[in-house]
This record gives sequence, structure tokens and C-alpha cells, in this order.
Amino acid sequence: ATAAAAAAAQWAARRAAPGKAVKQEPREPSAPPKQRATPREAAPITPGVPSASSSSLPASRNEAQIRDEHPEWAARCSLEAARPGQPQRLTVSMAEVGFGDSEIVVWCSWMDRRLSAEQPSGTSARTRFKASTIDFSENKLAANGIKALCSLLEKHGVKCEVLRLTGNQFGNEGMRCIARYVSSTSQAPAMELHLSRNRFSMEGVKWLLANLSMHPAYPIWNNDTDRFVPLWLRLENARVKGAPAYSALEAACSSLTCAVCCGEKSGDVRCGPRQCANAGCCDELKHNCVAHLCSLDVPQAAALLPSPAAHARPIFAPAGRGAVKAAPSGVEASAIRREEPRLLYE
Ligand SMILES: [Zn+2]
Ligand SMILES: [Zn+2]
Repeated sequence: ATAAAAAAAQWAARRAAPGKAVKQEPREPSAPPKQRATPREAAPITPGVPSASSSSLPASRNEAQIRDEHPEWAARCSLEAARPGQPQRLTVSMAEVGFGDSEIVVWCSWMDRRLSAEQPSGTSARTRFKASTIDFSENKLAANGIKALCSLLEKHGVKCEVLRLTGNQFGNEGMRCIARYVSSTSQAPAMELHLSRNRFSMEGVKWLLANLSMHPAYPIWNNDTDRFVPLWLRLENARVKGAPAYSALEAACSSLTCAVCCGEKSGDVRCGPRQCANAGCCDELKHNCVAHLCSLDVPQAAALLPSPAAHARPIFAPAGRGAVKAAPSGVEASAIRREEPRLLYE
């Protein structure tokens, strides 16, 4: 008990000492991710999600009535009946519908009312709706459209296997909204992000990686395989490709102390959305390989990306800094020796 108390005191002292800050902030992008204790309040512009009370339509409308206001969308967006104790199944197949920001804002407010009619929000933070795929690929969505969509998903606790936004027009601002959505809950709300052919640059990618590397939900725990799996990412575009993207990625991983896997093969096992064949990710311990970027081409003679390591490292800084300090006077040195904590915030 004395050893534990001494260790705790030392830990508290180290936390308190500002010069020896234990937390490591991401150096890139320059501003750290904001706290999101109150996700909705933290978003000043949320054009897509007016609260139910601000709607001019009668509040008593049920889900079916709201659905039938837009039969053309209802055919692509269905909602299964609720089953007790389970998230409600949702289908959203809105690829190639010619949506720009103003259209999706209207769509979001329609869907917001549907979801609110089914399950009033604010009741609990758990997953309330689940979709296998949420598909808005091949539209004309820019930052405000992405923001409206992500706010809607966040507000209603919508979880999806695959979020498909390929072939739109959003840049780094839209990427920040997506980064916020995927780090909005204690469990990853999406297993795959398909974001290719948009207008973000490596700055946006770094922002996303910074969020993933700081968030306890990543890499994602897979209950079927008892392994931590990196988030599956597709994000090639004209600005994110080739050697410059690769070296920016290398710099980002080093400064964030995280790793990405570019796709490996080990025997019959190949990296995929639900598994990683990388040797550093193959046991049940949490590692720092937060994302899969298998579609990125690796230039010849490029510096190697950092390989996956134990997940705890970034919090306690490089080995050496976390080493045991000299014993306070009057305490036996052996009494304060302890294992370096591995998973403090879990
Ligand atoms: Zn990996
Ligand atoms: Zn992998």
C-alpha cells in the first residue's frame, strides 16, 4: 500500500509540474482538437440540424408522416421498426442524387425530424441508430454539407459500418467535421471511411490522424477477433498522393507517436477493414496503429513509416522520460519501482 501511495504521489507531482507535462499534444495541426463534452453546443454553425421545436410543422407528426413528405428520399432512406434494447436499423443510400450543401441541409432537417419522432434525442449517449452503410458518394457536398451530416449523425447517436463520401467537394474544413464525428463517442461510430476524390490536403489528413491518435476508441476493438483494428481509410485525391503525401504522413505519425498500416500480408491473412496482418497489431494488446491506408502508394526509397508500438507510449512520452525517478528522501528506492501504466485513460 505504501508503494502504491508513493507512486500515486509521484504521479500527481509529475502531473502538477508544468515543465514536465506528461500529456503530449499533437504538434500538427497547430490547434489541438477541442473537447467535445457538449457536442452540439460546441458547433456554432449547424445549419442542417434545427431542433425539433424550431420546426414550423406540427410536433405531433409521426415518423411515417414525416417520411412521406419526401417520397423520393424515403425510397432511399428507410428506418426499420424499433426492437427493444437494440439500435434501430437505418438505411441511407443517397449516392449520385446531385446534392449540394443546400440540398443536404434540407435532407438533414427532414431526417432529424424522422429520427427525433422515433427516439427523442438526449435520452442517452449510446448508439440509437445503426446503418451498415451511409452513402452520400458522388454528390457536390462541401464543408457546410458535411458539417450538417456529421452533426445529424452525432446528435442521434448514429453508428455505421461504412461512411461513404467519395467524390464530393469538401476540403480540410469538411475533414475536421468528419474527424469530430469519429471521435464524438467513446466507441468508434464508423469502421470504414471512404473519402477519396475530395479537395482536402494532407493538413486535413493530419487533423484526422491527430484526432484518432488522441482518442481512446482507436484502434477499434473487434469483439469477434479480440484484436484492435485500425480504422479503414480511403482518402486519395489529387493533393493526397505520391511521395509528398507519404513524407507528410511519415512526419505526422512521428509527431503524433502513432502508426498507420499501409497493408500487409502474413500467410493467408491480409489487412482488411476488420483485421490487420501487421506484426505489431497481432496480439490482443492495444497498439498505436490507428488507421489503415492501404490505397496509398509507397514511393521507392521513402523513409519507413513508424511501425506499430504499444498504445501507451504517446501519453508518457518516449522511453526514458517515463523512467522511474529518484526516490524521495526517506523512501526506499525499490518501494517506488512500478510498471509503467499502459492504459491509463481506459
Ligand atoms: Zn496495424
Ligand atoms: Zn494492416
